Amino acid sequence: MQCRSHCGACCTAPSISSPIPGMPNGKAAGQACIHLVEEYRCAIFNDASRPKVCSDFMAEAMICGNSREEAMIIIASIEAATTPTDNDSIARSSTQ
Ligand code: SF4
Ligand code: SF4
Repeated sequence: MQCRSHCGACCTAPSISSPIPGMPNGKAAGQACIHLVEEYRCAIFNDASRPKVCSDFMAEAMICGNSREEAMIIIASIEAATTPTDNDSIARSSTQ
């Protein structure tokens, strides 16, 4: 699908673990990227410093839904389903 204008849900809802210019540790889920500017545009969209994870991300109906609000909900639910819990961390560290 075509990325919709005035959305930017994928720049807010997911966590990003790779460094973003000005956000060396990436960003937390639900935190807006500092490059998300008015009208939910990416201020560094055409800049080489834009993270690869951003340029690799393509709009997909299953993720983007029919509105920014829907995308925020879908992406947040994917984030919750794929984020390791504290128990997962404990389980992993106890097997090392
Ligand atoms: S969530 Fe989808 S439609 Fe919205 S800005 Fe990101 S890629 Fe585009
Ligand atoms: S760098 Fe641009 S595309 Fe990537 S999360 Fe930030 S605003 Fe979105």
